[in-house]
Amino acid sequence: MPVKIRVTGIVQGVGFRPFIYRIAVKNDLKGYVRNRGDAGVEILLEGREENIRSFLRDLKEKKPPLAQIYETITLPLKGKNECKAFTILKSSDEAELSGSVIPPDIAICDECLKELRDPENPRYEYFFITCTNCGPRYTIIERLPYDRENTTMRDFPMCGFCKNEYTNPLNRRFHAQTVACAECGPKAYLTTKQGELTESKDPIREAGRLLSEGFIVAIKGYGGFHVATATTVDEPLVRLRRVKHRRQKPFAIMAKNLEAVKSFSQVGVKEGELLTSYTRPIVLLNKSENHYLSDLIAPSLHNIGVMLPYTGLHYMLFDKVDDPAFVMTSANPPNQPIIKDDDEALRRLGDTVDYFLFHDRQIAHRCDDSVIRLHSSHQVFLRRSRGYAPAPIMLREKAKRCAVGLGGELNNTGCVLLGNKAFISQHIGDVKNVETRDFLENSTKHLIRLTNSKVEAVACDLHPKFTTTKLAQDLAVENGWQLIQVQHHYAHIAALMLEHNVKEVIGICCDGYGYGLDGEAWGGEILFCTQDFPDFERLAHLQKQPLIGGDFATRYPLRVAVGILHKKVDVQGWLLQNQRHFPHGEKEAQIILHQLEKRSKIIETTSCGRVLDAVAAVLGICYERTYEGEPAMKLESTAIKGKDSLQLDPVINGNVLDTTQLLLEIFKSRGKCSKADLAYSAHAYLGKGLATLAIEKALEKSVKTVGFSGGVACNELLVLIMRRVVEGSGLRFLVHEVVPPGDGGLSFGQAVVAGFW
Ligand SMILES: [Zn+2]
Ligand SMILES: [Zn+2]
Repeated sequence: MPVKIRVTGIVQGVGFRPFIYRIAVKNDLKGYVRNRGDAGVEILLEGREENIRSFLRDLKEKKPPLAQIYETITLPLKGKNECKAFTILKSSDEAELSGSVIPPDIAICDECLKELRDPENPRYEYFFITCTNCGPRYTIIERLPYDRENTTMRDFPMCGFCKNEYTNPLNRRFHAQTVACAECGPKAYLTTKQGELTESKDPIREAGRLLSEGFIVAIKGYGGFHVATATTVDEPLVRLRRVKHRRQKPFAIMAKNLEAVKSFSQVGVKEGELLTSYTRPIVLLNKSENHYLSDLIAPSLHNIGVMLPYTGLHYMLFDKVDDPAFVMTSANPPNQPIIKDDDEALRRLGDTVDYFLFHDRQIAHRCDDSVIRLHSSHQVFLRRSRGYAPAPIMLREKAKRCAVGLGGELNNTGCVLLGNKAFISQHIGDVKNVETRDFLENSTKHLIRLTNSKVEAVACDLHPKFTTTKLAQDLAVENGWQLIQVQHHYAHIAALMLEHNVKEVIGICCDGYGYGLDGEAWGGEILFCTQDFPDFERLAHLQKQPLIGGDFATRYPLRVAVGILHKKVDVQGWLLQNQRHFPHGEKEAQIILHQLEKRSKIIETTSCGRVLDAVAAVLGICYERTYEGEPAMKLESTAIKGKDSLQLDPVINGNVLDTTQLLLEIFKSRGKCSKADLAYSAHAYLGKGLATLAIEKALEKSVKTVGFSGGVACNELLVLIMRRVVEGSGLRFLVHEVVPPGDGGLSFGQAVVAGFW
């Protein structure tokens, strides 16, 4: 009796149909396999029952490495066997099942890399070499099912040679939609900054040579443009920082190979595995003692973001030069998404770069590189994007309803929660203007379509003025979805709970800013969250501290420091000593003093980020925040080399951890201890203080688990200190492993609240 099988999962674009073909033929079965419009695969089998059983075993045990099977539905069919052979049929547009998705972009595989280097191979030195196991996917697919005409490869009809491989069941490129060669596939070319073609016969190596000489080149990749330059000399970096208006923000780099990475940074086993994995993220690595790359790449930080080449083109850039690495930073103007289109690149980067290395294939969807950091052996996502999105995060429980989360404002993502799967979008960025808002809306809608989801609710932040809040309101009205607003820190802790499948937790949530239930600025919170009660309790928090000048205080952390210290000491002399760190010098310092005297209309915050910023300012580590998290990141980098020389006892007043005392002690100890020791001592105070409060609350509520989330949970030192205290008391300590602790995980947390509770 024939059977029909439907498979959901990541089964398109991963060599699944060729695999089905092979196991069907091997088991002497006839029938067909085809892709469907819902990203799933449909199989018809005719043959002996025992052969079908054997096929199903093979399906489970031998599936291709990149395939993920979520569900297999087998239906016996009435009727007779009619097929003469087993074939791969033309895809159907039918979309009925939901929850399947296409794979993320995959780094070039070892076999393709070998062929790229083999003079005998027809794809020798062809930059866009791919196969069923590697190449772009998410960024190339415009619509389902995954067929060449639905991708941006449609502009490149296969030549005879490629077609041959494409139709040969024994070939690695059997039904590989991205198959191409120098004859028929995309071509690379080098232009001046005005877009005029250069004469180069070997544009990619020529671009590598230009980079090595200190020119700035915009390079088109899989998911967008990078801006690249040399790493061993300062001059091009000075220029790049000036034209990009990025004074301090670290640049990611791409190294020639693992050996090169080890020559300038420390690479542990786990870090090496991540660097070389098929997801090829940027990994934050500690600079080694003899670090010799320019200090302008990651100024005043102890670590540097490194990735390895992930396309044939990247590998070829290094062929004719001795450089160990090139800067490879996303090309995006401030608050704008990464640039993906050629004309846009020419328009927006023409003033920044000296040359463009283009290829003539369009990018369907933009996707930034992912960024991961390791806290000893635990991986922490600073950004979950290329190589990961849109593959879902698998949960141990099914949501009650399908929900979408639109995140907050900074470092944003979108999320579609369906059943036990959470599909988080690629990195969207700071949603402050129409371009990023559209990017968020389009990416989220694309995810809904890909997964064939029937959305019932849309979740967003509590902040009434966020662009994402407005978008959620619009989408709710437009589609008849229920609108659910979720408090920022609650969303972070909800994300942590679902990631670990815990029912209740005392959550420590620390970051820069989140709109509180009372409309005030929160950011150092201890919450009690439980799945049985669809809400949360704010049990404790950091002491409220003044933000003199509101947003200015976030930009100039000295303002926060002065506001705190003013309560205990006369800061006038110190402030005037440091007046040069304000844009308006003495005049500004005088205004601040005046505001302190008046004590009127000063916004307050419980933010942990602002306290870390203030410590950085007191220690003279950072006076101006030129990128998000800068003072706190530099403080951590300083602390890494120190010890807890002050051994301060955290002062806890009821449900409030005193931070004035912390700042005062640090202020008084300047010059008596090293900066590193004081920076460490500040971390120790906050880590111990928050952990102690959380433990106290856990005992009160009889909860066995304490969790830590929010952007500050990217800080390795704080995590380490908190873990020691919490686990020392016999409680379980949880941090994120697959969802970003920062605001990239917010959309997931919101969707969780809307979908589960
Ligand atoms: Zn390959
Ligand atoms: Zn070809």
